[in-house]
Amino acid sequence: MEESRSWLSSPAAVVRVGLAVFVVAWIFGPESLRSAVPILVVFLIALGLEVNFLVGAFRNDTSRRPDRRPQEVDRERYGYHWEDEDLEDSAEEADELSEVEPAYRRSFAPVRRFLVGLGVIAALGLTIWLVESRTGWDSLDGSTRAEAVERFSGEASRIAEKPVTVYCDESRDFVGAVQHADGVAEVGGERAYVTPEICLDLYRLAFEDDVKGSRTGRAIAVLAHEAWHLRGVADEGTTECYALQSGVDIGRRLGLSEGRARQLMRQQLTENALRARGSFEYLVPPDCRDGGRLDLDPASSAFP
Ligand SMILES: [Zn+2]
Repeated sequence: MEESRSWLSSPAAVVRVGLAVFVVAWIFGPESLRSAVPILVVFLIALGLEVNFLVGAFRNDTSRRPDRRPQEVDRERYGYHWEDEDLEDSAEEADELSEVEPAYRRSFAPVRRFLVGLGVIAALGLTIWLVESRTGWDSLDGSTRAEAVERFSGEASRIAEKPVTVYCDESRDFVGAVQHADGVAEVGGERAYVTPEICLDLYRLAFEDDVKGSRTGRAIAVLAHEAWHLRGVADEGTTECYALQSGVDIGRRLGLSEGRARQLMRQQLTENALRARGSFEYLVPPDCRDGGRLDLDPASSAFP
């Protein structure tokens, strides 16, 4: 009995601890984790496992032999209230209790564990919601967001050489984890959509002088990438190569020093090779080098 209890409770504990660790990593960890894993799916899996434990516990319960005496594990785990004098009561009374009480406890314990599991899931969900609403793109007021978007659109328009509009896709209709994209634009079109995370990193750079390392580099590269699509470049590798070069100018205009802007774009170029392993079309071509066919400024020896 003790064995089956620990077997029942430990997978649930593992799931809960695992979920909590994952949520913390999701909130504070690398951006790639956020964009790769929709958190709702993680919660649904956790919920499914809790339901599975509950059903499993009831199935086991029916096949379990009733136990005559309160176990040590019961007292520890369920705050069992029998005092020693109760145990010393008449044999009749003890028998009566052991018939009724343990059965009641056994059937309620899995429900209680399930409710605890639900509580953990709800608390973690609430934590994410609070963090997002206080720190995310959505936490900025409407006029600030409008001002920022106007700024991003202005930068994209310079690259596209025509007026274009950048949208922060708050409803995630076009970009995000489901689409596996940070941004999307119609080739030669006038509208580009980027994720709220990209918008937030661009906002922090342009309005708060807050640079988040390679995340900021990535945000600049995505904005430039979509702008080059709007200009009419379709090939992904070529678009990215141009974007990393234009990104230096965007970075500088949004507040970075030229050296820092170049460093961030070089980092993106290095990361491009790693990121593109799964999808070759995004890999920048070999011509993407100083003096190469795709060098936008052959006169300069800096690249990007
Ligand atoms: Zn693209």
